[in-house]
Amino acid sequence: VDPAQLVQVLFGLGEMVTATQSVDEDTFRVLGEELGFEIQMVSPEDEDRELLESFDIDFEAEDDSISMPRPPVVTVMGHVDHGKTKLLDAIRKENIVESEAGGITQHIGAYQVSVEHDGQERAITFIDTPGHEAFTAMRARGAQVTDIVILVVAADDGVMPQTIEALNHAQAAGVPIVVAVNKIDVEGANPSKIRQQLTEYNLVAEEYGGDTMFVDVAAKPGINIDKLLEAVLLTADAALDLRANPDMPARGVAIEGHLDRGRGPVATVLVQRGTLRPGDAIVTGQSYGRVRAMLDEYGKPVEEAEPSRPVLVLGLTAVPGAGDKFLVADDDRTARQIAEKREAMERNAALAKARKRVTLESFMAESKVETLNLILKGDVSGSVEALEDALLKIDVGDEVDLNIIHRGVGAITANDVNLASIDRGIIIGFNVRPQSRTVEDLADREGVEIRYYSVIYSAIEEIEAALKGMLKPEF
Ligand code: GDP
Repeated sequence: VDPAQLVQVLFGLGEMVTATQSVDEDTFRVLGEELGFEIQMVSPEDEDRELLESFDIDFEAEDDSISMPRPPVVTVMGHVDHGKTKLLDAIRKENIVESEAGGITQHIGAYQVSVEHDGQERAITFIDTPGHEAFTAMRARGAQVTDIVILVVAADDGVMPQTIEALNHAQAAGVPIVVAVNKIDVEGANPSKIRQQLTEYNLVAEEYGGDTMFVDVAAKPGINIDKLLEAVLLTADAALDLRANPDMPARGVAIEGHLDRGRGPVATVLVQRGTLRPGDAIVTGQSYGRVRAMLDEYGKPVEEAEPSRPVLVLGLTAVPGAGDKFLVADDDRTARQIAEKREAMERNAALAKARKRVTLESFMAESKVETLNLILKGDVSGSVEALEDALLKIDVGDEVDLNIIHRGVGAITANDVNLASIDRGIIIGFNVRPQSRTVEDLADREGVEIRYYSVIYSAIEEIEAALKGMLKPEF
């Protein structure tokens, strides 16, 4: 429709707009009615689903005609310096298959170990990037990769801000947690204090009557690593029924990728369903290609990658992003077309996003949003608590909700922005700024509003106004 015509109709409806302005969903629907169009709202996910459907592909289709157990996929999280990296190293070292000893492992973003459990050989896949940044970044893209989180807490230090952040993320994603109480070799280590501290966060150790497994370990000297792996398998068996069909075209997620000088774009993908083989026509995000070769974490060729198996894939046209879903298409042409259409779609989405963002003002105006999600960051815990208390005391009746999805002390991080982006929240910075320019840019790109305050009263006043404005929209 000619933009001038749109503007004219909107004027007729009493909306004073210009041709470059964005309108809300309701206005859009009215506009459709006026002009005799049926309006359908689509999210990027819907759009992608429709794109795939046009190629007769249903990414989520559960073909469980064959359903085989698959290994759990584990992410290690915890506070900085509590031993995440050391733990990943220790696990890798202890479980190198005999013949592989001496072989150099390469960092490809994930690795698989083999564990003897109840007389059976069982595999566990570890995502080799510790921390919750990768975890939330993937979740932000709709990729659920992790089955179990190992939460590392140093017994000589205790529960720290990032410990809590990590467990918030795991709990929000509904992922079961196994707690690794690390550094028990250090003098003054107090493992029972960790158990006690974590009960406050609904992580109650089995020995205290809860259902979370706590294992005392020491990553550096390699103590109890086998017990920890055992606990992962026990938790997987008790809480999850991990199965997949290996007999279908492969589906999964790209975990990381880079441009290799000799080999071109390479990506580590985690197969979630089906089996990936060399020669498959693959598309991951906006990158596509024919799988030229697959390598494992020892650099050895892999002929078949079954569910939960991470492999390095060679033969892509471009480097996919972490969290991009991949699938095997019928042929090269289909793979290319899907990638190209996605690229075009993302360009459009980026444009749209730049125009539409949730801001306190738009929240005031948009009576449709019923929950205001906030992330509070402050310079000291006292101010964060004071702010939270005051906010929760605002009386707004039953129709709107104020939801504090995360709070913490320190600069605003990429993680906060990702969380806000997932839950369409607003970040409140009390005497704090974004950690870096990159974080600021991310917020811009994701359309996440950050509001800064240094006086609690003004923060309360503005948020209260937004909430009340929502109750009584101004016309
Ligand atoms: P990350 O930041 O959580 O990845 O922590 P690192 O794995 O880098 O470990 C931080 C520091 O703690 C390093 O100096 C490690 O050597 C040390 N460390 C990790 N695990 C242990 C442990 O079990 N015992 C002792 N004594 N030191 C450890």
